[in-house]
Formats: sequence, C-alpha cells, structure tokens
Amino acid sequence: MTAEHYTLKDFALLSLNTNAVDRAKQFKKWITQTEVADSVYWIEALSGIKPEMIVKYQGIDTSQKIISFASNDYLGLSQNQETIQAGIEALLKYGTGACASPRLGGYLDIHRKLEQEIACFTGQEEALIFSSGFGVNVGVLNALLGKEDIAFIDLQVHRSVLDGLLQTNVKKIGHNNLEYLEYALKSERHKYKTAMVIIDGVYSQDGDIAPLSEIITLCKQYDALVYLDDAHGVGVFGENGRGVAEHYDMLGQVDIITGTLSKSFGAVGGFAACSKEITDYLRFYSNTSLFSASPTPQVVCSALKALEIIRREKLLIKKLWNNVDYLKRRLLEEGFDIKQSVSPIFPVMIRDPYKVSEAIKLLKQKNIYASEITFPAVTNKESRIRISLSAAHETAHLDTLVNALCEIDKELHIKSIK
Ligand code: PMP
Repeated sequence: MTAEHYTLKDFALLSLNTNAVDRAKQFKKWITQTEVADSVYWIEALSGIKPEMIVKYQGIDTSQKIISFASNDYLGLSQNQETIQAGIEALLKYGTGACASPRLGGYLDIHRKLEQEIACFTGQEEALIFSSGFGVNVGVLNALLGKEDIAFIDLQVHRSVLDGLLQTNVKKIGHNNLEYLEYALKSERHKYKTAMVIIDGVYSQDGDIAPLSEIITLCKQYDALVYLDDAHGVGVFGENGRGVAEHYDMLGQVDIITGTLSKSFGAVGGFAACSKEITDYLRFYSNTSLFSASPTPQVVCSALKALEIIRREKLLIKKLWNNVDYLKRRLLEEGFDIKQSVSPIFPVMIRDPYKVSEAIKLLKQKNIYASEITFPAVTNKESRIRISLSAAHETAHLDTLVNALCEIDKELHIKSIK
C-alpha cells in the first residue's frame, strides 16, 4: 500500500492499543505524513449564501464562488428572508439564549409553540424539542430502552441511534430486509419486555427510503414499537411535506417520530413526536433534554417560520422534486451508479476511497463542493461522493455538476468501478 492509499480506517486499525493522548499525537503525525491530509483532514470554512459560497481551502481564502451540494438545507429555508427576519425579531425580544434546560427555566412560550406545531405537522399527539437532532436519538433511546429491552435496527440507521443504544440489546437487520426483520422478531421478541424497530425514513448515505407500511404491520403483529428517524423526510416527503409517514399514508401510525431542525427547517436542533405519555416521561428521563440548554430563541422562531412556509408554499417542495428528477435523469443517462436513491440525496458510487478523495479535489478545482463519504461513515468499498440537492439549486447548477463529473470520469474512471 502506497502512502496515498491510506484512509482514516488505516489509522483506526494502527492505533488500537494506545492511550487517548498518544493516539491524538500519533494521529497528527500520521495525517501530516499521508496524502489523506489533503481532503479528509482539513475542514474547510465556507462563507456566503448557499448554494453559491466562498470557500477557504486549507486556510487560504480563494474568494472563489463555489456551488455547494453538501448542505441538507433541502428547501433553502436557511437563506429565506422570512426565516431570517423571524430570527432577528426573536433575538430582539428574547435575547441570544435560553441559557437553561427546559426543566429549569429554559422553556419559553416559543418552545411550547414549536412543540405544538411539530406535533400537529407530524400527525402525533405531542412533541418535545431538543437542541440537537443527534441529541434526540441519544436521549430518547437511552431513556426508553434498558437491559431487558431490545432494539431491532436497520444496518444503515444514523450514528446517533447507535449511540442511544449502548445500554440495551441490539439486533441488526440487513438494510430494508423485511424477511429477516420478521424472522428476528419471531425468534427474539418474546425474550424482552420492550421491543422497538428503529428505522430512518430516508437513509442519509444511500438516499433510499424505508418500507414503512410493511414495518408497521410487522410491529403490530409482534408487539413492537415503531421508531422512525425522519430527519431527511420531514419537509421533503409526502404531499404536504409531512414526511415519510405521510408519503405512505401512515400518519398517526408510528409510535415515535424523531427529526431535526437542521435540514428542511434550515436551523439547528431536533424533536421527538409521540404520545403525550411518552413525551411527558421523556421530559424527565431524556438526559439530553433534562440536562441540556433549550434551543436558542432565534433558532426556535426561524424554525416556526420555516414550518409556516413549508405549509404555505407548496411550490417550494415541488421545485426541490423537479431538481431531484432532473439530476437523477441526467446522472443515470451518463451511466453513474446512484444506487436506489429516491430522494434529494444522491450517492455517486466510486467504491474506492482514494478515487473519492481525488474526485473531490478535482470537483473543487471546478468550483463544486460535494461531500466525501468514506470510512467511518461507510466501509471503504462503499466509498462515494454524496450530492444533496436543494430547492435553491438552479438547473444550471445541476448541469455544471454533471458535466464536471463526466470530465472527472475521463481522468479517473469513476463510473466503471463496481
Ligand atoms: N438522524 C439522521 C438520519 C441524520 O442524518 C442526522 C444528521 N445528519 C441526524 C439524525 C442528526 O441531526 P443533527 O445533525 O441535526 O444533529
């Protein structure tokens, strides 16, 4: 293996038996000696209005405008004048922070309002908001599942779910594999008090969706709760953008829906929407709510306005889907492998982490910014470029992207690797 073929996976293996401080020192040394440094290690600082942004490569401000395909701002609402204005007004009225956890004085009237609106929008009885989407899954799952319970999880659920399950029993189910889920429920369910099937509505790496209707049927049959992380579905799927549950006409039939305010809502934070009994319980037993400060007033009021816009402006979701249809058609026509994507997330499969790094560098030279997805997000063989689309992209942006990928393919042969 030559130096330029190293990935973060190699360092993880090399450093298995070292203490934390030595590991950090070794990492710094290792990363500066390998080519990985070019793309994986440095985190670029961006500025400007999405999707056209200014990027600082390795600290150098090129002042060059790039087109970003790396944001989850699916509806462009982080840049919307109304969401910005709502945030400014909240700052003036409430100040910059809630500065306490919800239970201890950090719960404002606007937090309550956002919870009620989210509960209604997701078709659930009640909702609870958190200051991060990641923290929702960690806090809710830790609170609900213990040693005598079991979680049946899709292999591709988000990292935050795994971090929420450290104190319970976990059975991993092949991605979207209903047959195996049924087999596992049949053979394991009776051994535990609570059983929960945990899925993402839209899978954040492959951009495909869960077979929710069948999963709900199985859960009813085997007395298991359905936990749907719809971080990428709310605001995107369903006729009214109410998420994957609406897409399948299953509103009100999911036990717990979790989501984030950092994608379609254009802000930051997250929510759990479920029955009033469960939310009341979570207010006391979910550590990431109980012991963590509430989201800031600006975030809450911008998210409230975002929700109002999602309800009102149907054309916004339509524009996003027009972009999705257009890009999908063009990428498939050109012969790129985008797996089973049916959402605004497109994996452009390259299946070689080194080539992914090279392709990302070449894209940057062409003023395009996309996500490099390699270990630990996926295995080396599943390495890919990830494209996230927004209603804020114009057709010209999409054409520029496809043309750039085609040019890069001439140099690196990224289409042909399986
Ligand atoms: N769930 C899923 C499926 C996600 O993709 C993400 C973020 N990428 C999260 C939860 C965490 O959300 P946040 O980034 O808002 O903390």
